[in-house]
Amino acid sequence: MAQAEIGLIGLGVMGSNLALNIAEKGNRIAVFNRTVEVTRKFYAEAGELQGHIIPCETIEEFVAAIRPPRPIIIMIKAGDPVDQQMELLKPYLEKNDIMIDAGNANFRDTMRRFDNLKDSGLTFIGMGVSGGEEGARHGPSIMVGGTEDSWKRVEKVLTSIAAKYNGDPCVAWLGENGAGHFVKTIHNGIEYADMQMIAEIYGILRDGLKMSATEISDVFGAWNKGRLNSYLIEITEKVLKAADPITGQPMVDLILDKAGQKGTGKWSVIEAQNMGVPATGIEAAVAARSISSMKDEREAAEKVLGLPGGELKVADKAAFIKDLESALLAAKIGAYAQGFAVMSAASKEFGWNLPMPVIAKIWRAGCIIRSQFLDEITTAFTKDPDVANLIVTPAFAAMVKETDGALRRVVSAAVLAGLPVPALASALGYFDSYRRGRGTANVIQAQRDFFGAHGFDRTDGKDAHHGPWGSGAATF
Ligand code: NDP
Repeated sequence: MAQAEIGLIGLGVMGSNLALNIAEKGNRIAVFNRTVEVTRKFYAEAGELQGHIIPCETIEEFVAAIRPPRPIIIMIKAGDPVDQQMELLKPYLEKNDIMIDAGNANFRDTMRRFDNLKDSGLTFIGMGVSGGEEGARHGPSIMVGGTEDSWKRVEKVLTSIAAKYNGDPCVAWLGENGAGHFVKTIHNGIEYADMQMIAEIYGILRDGLKMSATEISDVFGAWNKGRLNSYLIEITEKVLKAADPITGQPMVDLILDKAGQKGTGKWSVIEAQNMGVPATGIEAAVAARSISSMKDEREAAEKVLGLPGGELKVADKAAFIKDLESALLAAKIGAYAQGFAVMSAASKEFGWNLPMPVIAKIWRAGCIIRSQFLDEITTAFTKDPDVANLIVTPAFAAMVKETDGALRRVVSAAVLAGLPVPALASALGYFDSYRRGRGTANVIQAQRDFFGAHGFDRTDGKDAHHGPWGSGAATF
């Protein structure tokens, strides 16, 4: 058999589907998995795609099956396993071969791996892949970081397997070393915020308006036909409609309210904090997942403190549901604006030159946060790629002005009723702080100067940088 165009290690959920996708698009692919039985089973079940797949049982055989310079996708458990796999692979590779980590790596690990290979003649690509199992099989969104030369070697194969939005492939080279994995991390951070905001709106409908899962499903179904049209709204409609095959009750009512997390949300928050960029929507979402996992503590606290007594006061249910739709859109704008602001700061910090319109473009299909909304973000960034914040672009400023009244009404009603809405409220706080030219940090500066003689700048530009605080104040 002729040599393969590309190799792939790791035939788990993502790797096996990615390999089938690559084979289906007419590319020849060599595959390897640590556990040999997995490779055999994968090949046996590949059906008519077998002709494009070279199953390999040893690393030596695997490397020999790929045409040099060899691009090798590593799609295994993130973290140490990737370093171990790279070490096992290295002795068999030749100059210009490319190891591609396609898992959810921390971009700092990607930068380290990239640097470690610099003098070896080998190269490294850190590649974010989004879209879950279905995306991997039929078209994911792919975010590539590495040298431009290594990208050119894999561009054709990756373009063939990526999702398409109106014919545009959802794959792009975003910059050197950790750029692809950084963008994937922020994608996931935004995904956390999006999911949390949807869950909060669901909570208002369930606990405030006392609606059933099926009724709420219909609300999300209607919203999916409008401005909120997106994959996450679509699947929310579906999960709320599904019945448990054992009891016949709505499935969602039987699912324990403890959310898992693997790290990308937390990394997004850490990196945002490192750079001093507010990402309050993502922070609220990560914190909400952490609080959700404290199920025992929450139940104990409910016994001690009770639930807040307020009731959701709604004069016109239909109008309030319209407000919920607008509020969700407003909060979503806040979370996306923050995510893009974090990427813009990282681009400067790490010298990546991240192309914002391209990032929005490749998220329009294939990935978990795909939506019509991302097409609007693409247009806004294409018109103004260097804008400081998405919410001051003309299109999004108009949307914020139109929807933030609804967000205010929804957050106020929820707060008075004691329904937790940390992510929705964070968006409101963000808008209200970001749009206010004269804030309240003058008091903080005065306090800092009082206790620590940190000094302050004056609004009138005069050259006196400490206050007349008197006794008890720090001396300077
Ligand atoms: P799975 O758990 O389905 O598969 C894990 C794979 O990793 C298996 O092939 C396993 O091999 C291999 N593996 C584990 N440890 C080692 C090791 N030390 N050395 C060599 N191989 C090892 O994982 P997924 O396919 O879900 O995830 C793979 C990567 O993709 C992860 O980084 C994940 O975060 C990322 N990802 C996952 C998404 C998803 O929706 N699932 C979406 C996007 C990214 P073996 O069969 O021998 O155990």
